[in-house]
Amino acid sequence: MLLQMKTSRDLYYAGELVEVDKNTAAEWIAAGLAEPAVCPECGAQLEARGWGAVCPECGNRKWESIA
Ligand SMILES: [Zn+2]
Repeated sequence: MLLQMKTSRDLYYAGELVEVDKNTAAEWIAAGLAEPAVCPECGAQLEARGWGAVCPECGNRKWESIA
């Protein structure tokens, strides 16, 4: 699941998009460390593609960070 960090942790910095497994995502969201990365235009859950992200609703739009 693609998350956006709300605070810096380990190797990640606040605002960075990070792909983690579902269990880790649930832990980080519950702890307030991160939130689901969503498309700034339509609100759909973004999907990780390489170093960026793609919105499955809008097509090939990519962002390295949506902070
Ligand atoms: Zn979108």
